[in-house]
Amino acid sequence: MQAVVQGNATTIGRRGFILILSSPSGAGKTTLTRAVAADPKWGLDLSISVTTRQRRPSEIDGKHYTFIDREAFDALRAADNLLEWAEVHGNFYGTPRRPVEKVLGAGRDMIFDIDYQGTRQVRSKLTDDVVTVFILPPSLAELRHRLERRAEDSPDTIEKRLANARLEIQRWSEYDYVIVNDDLDDAFRSLEGILIAERLKRARRTGLTSFVESLLTEPD
Ligand code: 5GP
Repeated sequence: MQAVVQGNATTIGRRGFILILSSPSGAGKTTLTRAVAADPKWGLDLSISVTTRQRRPSEIDGKHYTFIDREAFDALRAADNLLEWAEVHGNFYGTPRRPVEKVLGAGRDMIFDIDYQGTRQVRSKLTDDVVTVFILPPSLAELRHRLERRAEDSPDTIEKRLANARLEIQRWSEYDYVIVNDDLDDAFRSLEGILIAERLKRARRTGLTSFVESLLTEPD
């Protein structure tokens, strides 16, 4: 049973899906996304976005984002190489299309850390194979505290992100699941619960028909 739920090398074949996490900056979405993607038990591929934003000191090019200039971004967009893209806090972000096609084509799942604008675009293109999760902070005071503690953005940027947080939070009702992140371990367990349930969805488990047929032809 474990293998069916957790692994991608399952005995019962199924279609892969895209798990999207969105939240205002500082609500813990990036930590959660990276933690679940880093755990081999889940066999999730992480989508690495391209962005025109300045790299933060702790970020590695090609690992956290692929950092590109505006001209390169526009070229990717013009060539239809982005599955979705959006302007967030004055910078451009986008999801390269090809890695996604490769992962889904192989029946595996992929995790995205993108905003609500990108979520809408992906949902309109891949309706049944998209699962969306919104992460809420326990309070706005805690959100400010986390952004200040992170100390990777200038005070100006932090204020801009907090103002935007109020707008972003209002998108919560467009998502399939909502997690309030007041404890990272609890939030992580909730995310694992979503993965387990979504992997059991009948509609995506294309191998069930033949599995059940073989069950029923088993000799007594
Ligand atoms: P940050 O600059 O803090 O890394 O990200 C800012 C916002 O951009 C976050 O809400 C993040 O989820 C979103 N974001 C990151 N990559 C993408 C992307 O490829 N597409 C879209 N639409 N949003 C993204």
